[in-house]
Amino acid sequence: MRAWLTEASDALVSLIFPGGCRICNKLLPDARRVPICEECFSSFERLPSVACEICARPLPGLIRREGEQQLCSACRDKTYAFDRARSYAVYEGPLVQAILLLKFEQIEPLGNWFAERLAELAISEGNTLAADVVVPVPLHRDRERERGYNQAALISKPFAKRLRLPHKSVLLMRTRARPDKRILSLEERWESVRGAFATRPGSQVDNLRVLLIDDVLTTGATLDACARALRDAGAKSVIGLTVARAVRNPLPSSIQW
Ligand SMILES: [Zn+2]
Ligand SMILES: [Zn+2]
Repeated sequence: MRAWLTEASDALVSLIFPGGCRICNKLLPDARRVPICEECFSSFERLPSVACEICARPLPGLIRREGEQQLCSACRDKTYAFDRARSYAVYEGPLVQAILLLKFEQIEPLGNWFAERLAELAISEGNTLAADVVVPVPLHRDRERERGYNQAALISKPFAKRLRLPHKSVLLMRTRARPDKRILSLEERWESVRGAFATRPGSQVDNLRVLLIDDVLTTGATLDACARALRDAGAKSVIGLTVARAVRNPLPSSIQW
């Protein structure tokens, strides 16, 4: 009983007196569900609107011309199998830390917060991001067992609920585990993910517009590999939505940049 009381009062104390912001350590002024302060949240840098219409890669200096499609060179070369990709903010600074928190500490309210931002983005883009089903980019089952959850699903589940779309994490699976990212060059990362995903046998993908959710778009290779598997299974369209997007050195030179 005493142990239970101690435990309960500890929980109460942590609810009333939250620690500091998990990104900048500043003391949080109020009890909140997401342990990140307002300044850190507002420091997330949105992606510029002058960007590739397919993959949303920023195209600084580009002059918009009426009626002309704005594409980056990778998309002009039809590099990606997805129809479109959009992201909430630039993968830099405090957002990198926020994504690590989600990835390794399973902070569900943070997943909800990201889902809300992606829902706003999807709603503001209207028909260009229309979909029939929401699918998180899967982890390899060994990785998911080890971690206990898939961080992309912490975002995709509340996102699907918000947009009232079916959430189908079973549609897609990762058949080959990812090698350690830190030891891979950009070329190796691109290669390592090719053919690493497949639709689950018996799953119905035919003619569906699929919206894929992931935490970060780095080179676009993961979304591309998922999109290929879905397209092969008959998906009508594939759109990628990620919380963050890397804007520096996103593609290896061998991918014709
Ligand atoms: Zn902070
Ligand atoms: Zn592009």
